[in-house]
Amino acid sequence: MIQLIRGFKDILPEEAGLWQEIERIAADLFEDFGYREIRIPIMERTELFARSIGEDTDIVEKEMYTFPDRKGDLITLRPEATASIVRSYIQHKMYAADPVRKFYMTGPMFRRERPQKGRYRQFYQIDAEIFGVASPYADAELIYLLDTLFRRLGVDDVAAHINSLGCPACRPGFKSALLDYMADRMETLCVDCKRRSERNPLRALDCKVPDCRDAMADAPSILDHLCADCRDHFDTVKTALTDLGVPFEVDKRLVRGLDYYTRTTFEILTGSLGAQSAVAGGGRYDGLIEMLGGPSLPATGFAIGFDRLVEIVGMKAEDYQRAPKLFIAALGPHSQARAFGWSCALGTAGIQADMDFEGRSLKSQMKRADRSGAEYVLIVGEKELAEGGAVLRNMATKEQETISLRDLAAEIKKRLSLHP
Ligand code: AMP
Repeated sequence: MIQLIRGFKDILPEEAGLWQEIERIAADLFEDFGYREIRIPIMERTELFARSIGEDTDIVEKEMYTFPDRKGDLITLRPEATASIVRSYIQHKMYAADPVRKFYMTGPMFRRERPQKGRYRQFYQIDAEIFGVASPYADAELIYLLDTLFRRLGVDDVAAHINSLGCPACRPGFKSALLDYMADRMETLCVDCKRRSERNPLRALDCKVPDCRDAMADAPSILDHLCADCRDHFDTVKTALTDLGVPFEVDKRLVRGLDYYTRTTFEILTGSLGAQSAVAGGGRYDGLIEMLGGPSLPATGFAIGFDRLVEIVGMKAEDYQRAPKLFIAALGPHSQARAFGWSCALGTAGIQADMDFEGRSLKSQMKRADRSGAEYVLIVGEKELAEGGAVLRNMATKEQETISLRDLAAEIKKRLSLHP
């Protein structure tokens, strides 16, 4: 038997209802805040990700699914959404009429990481981005949206961690202070941190290798090196969040794995997921639109790990599994023909009705009705057809009554509205 690829997974119908509900709740919230859905391809030219995410990041160095297509062009399965959304914004000149745009999207991402609990090679993200707004209120809005969404989904045990990564004016000063600090400890750092120290020393701050963590424990803080503008920006984000009642913690080690971040950066962490504690992450990336060939416009955004979110929501998958409202147990060819007509008419009217097409015995049809989770079962044989009435059984209460078959849809609707 052919098995699925390691690190990939199926989302089975039993879980898909919950995924749909979460998507709906997120989309409603985003739409209410003026975000509009964008759907981008799952493959792009490799160059797009290499340039935006950064050559020295884990994603580009070792995690992308990159391969030549049949003509030899290098293409990559998207490891994240932001680069593609920026590409689309530039390509369609969306900035021309009004540079301010808010987007959201949901879909699969691909990273060839070591599979483990909470870490997949195909995983799903819910993304939101604001383009064209430099104001710290845009960052605060995104963090507020995450907080609100998690509340609506019944997620507790989450904390927003925020930091600032400075800007091209103040980050170089911090980088060199960090490099000085690291120079004395180079021996104890892991190979990745050593190798990246010249170009990307910030990554050492959130390296998970225990020796690196110890060595970096007293590293200088970026927050002591911010320029006045970056400090004001960060202060406004913090004040806005406080005024909105959004709890947060300033975390000076939070740097995130992608190169393009500037100023505000944030992560939502949970205590409920073990080692993979980040359910969402994001931040400002003011240079990215220009770097990818667009106008010089600021941007900010986040990505939620959908798979991890599903694990921590206060909702149960079984509450979002749809079951038929009615199962029609039809006995004999005439009843079967009528039952088929009724079940199609009910389905068209938005009332899911199910039946057995195989003409099985009453016992086996009742078994199937029970397994299907149907609320009601209608038992119709040739005699019932002739009499124009049949037994309707309420599967929860086991009560039975005889109902008229003349307007079955109306009879069923009447009962469903009594027990919605
Ligand atoms: P990132 O794009 O790396 O900032 O990731 C944003 C969020 O996506 C993280 O906080 C995780 O919740 C989720 N995520 C990232 N990588 C994976 C993965 N391999 N498997 C499952 N979720 C992931």
